Amino acid sequence: MEVLRSILSCFSSRSRTRARAQSHALWSSGASDKNKSMVEQLRRYGIIRSSKVAEVMEAVDRGLFVPPGGSPYFDSPMPIGYNATISAPHMHAACLELLEKNLQPGMRALDVGSGTGYLTACFALMVGSEGRAVGVEHIPELVDTSIENIKKSGAAPQLNDGALSIHVADGREGWPELAPYDAIHVGAAAPQIPEALVEQLKPGGRMVIPVGTMFQELKVVDKKLDGTVSVRDETSVRYVPLTSKEAQLHAN
Ligand code: SAH
Repeated sequence: MEVLRSILSCFSSRSRTRARAQSHALWSSGASDKNKSMVEQLRRYGIIRSSKVAEVMEAVDRGLFVPPGGSPYFDSPMPIGYNATISAPHMHAACLELLEKNLQPGMRALDVGSGTGYLTACFALMVGSEGRAVGVEHIPELVDTSIENIKKSGAAPQLNDGALSIHVADGREGWPELAPYDAIHVGAAAPQIPEALVEQLKPGGRMVIPVGTMFQELKVVDKKLDGTVSVRDETSVRYVPLTSKEAQLHAN
């Protein structure tokens, strides 16, 4: 740091600006090295198996989505304010793996309780510019921050060209405007599976949703081509509740 400072002091103000930009680039590449190591670790533990999921998680730096003071590359949920958390990296990875076949280029994905926007950004890169990634979040401040986060991330082009959008709404109602979806992810635990979300699933589509109050199971809901629905338990989990805005803000 001292060396960098003394080098900087030798520059004119114009080149100093350039040097500052370079040192920022150095800092960001340091951050994305940490993101890369996090992804490698998830691969080593067998949580990430698909190269596409690894590629997308490498392209969306988690450090841009965790509020200052948090530890973005640590495998744990982190507080994001409003009684909400960003899910742990292994949960994001697990959900991307479970949904991978339904996040192919050109497909449509809905992220309910999009919070920081991290997973919505990953979905946008999975489905590409011909696809559609939609986030729904009921706290307007989180929606604003998530859009700012995405603008700095690898998914900024999808946000600019309209392939990615985030909306303030009650996610229990889904986002009917763009239904049906090939993939639906719910980032908060519902007391039971919301009917509106099952309706908005395309035949052949898959939803991943934590269900329960005290004890929660991550459920995988598959809608077959004939419209019949099957549900299985993937693993026990702990998510913040999918509830009303009032109940969430007045919890504790
Ligand atoms: N996948 C997000 C998870 C954030 S935590 C991330 O990793 O960043 C769950 C989010 O669900 C919170 O942001 C919370 O505000 C939101 N939420 C809870 N109930 C909701 C509802 N009924 N409609 C929309 N969003 C909801």
